[in-house]
Amino acid sequence: MSEERKSRGYLSSSLGCRCPRCREGKLFQHPVSISFKKNMLMNTKCPVCGQPTEIEVGFYYGTSYVSYALSVALSVSSLVAWWVIIGLSTEDNRFFYWIGFNAILLILLQPWLMRLSRSFWISWFVKYDPDWKDHQPEDVSERLNPDQAHNW
Ligand SMILES: [Zn+2]
Repeated sequence: MSEERKSRGYLSSSLGCRCPRCREGKLFQHPVSISFKKNMLMNTKCPVCGQPTEIEVGFYYGTSYVSYALSVALSVSSLVAWWVIIGLSTEDNRFFYWIGFNAILLILLQPWLMRLSRSFWISWFVKYDPDWKDHQPEDVSERLNPDQAHNW
């Protein structure tokens, strides 16, 4: 084996929105964008290993829970950071400033959070295959309905 490359780990692959099967190909067609349509446009198949990115009808419905959990985790982190850096008190309005700050932070990070939740979601259903070059991706064509594609 001349080209033995170290593959990405689970976290860096998921955070980087890479295909969970080969951890190489990109899941999304464009870089993060504020245009909703452009931001969420996925490759139908992984450009590297051919893994389909939508493996059944309505596959990405569940990502709202992931996105919710990520938002809560982010809010808790920003509250702790606010507490440490700026401080919280019942004597003034610093807590309400944090609420405003956190709302803006979540809105700004939304395009990224939505992608991240899809990336994590598919990583729980498609297993990493170190020998992906030797195997074909699982055939999911009978679980799909082209009329219902991207319909969530
Ligand atoms: Zn792949």
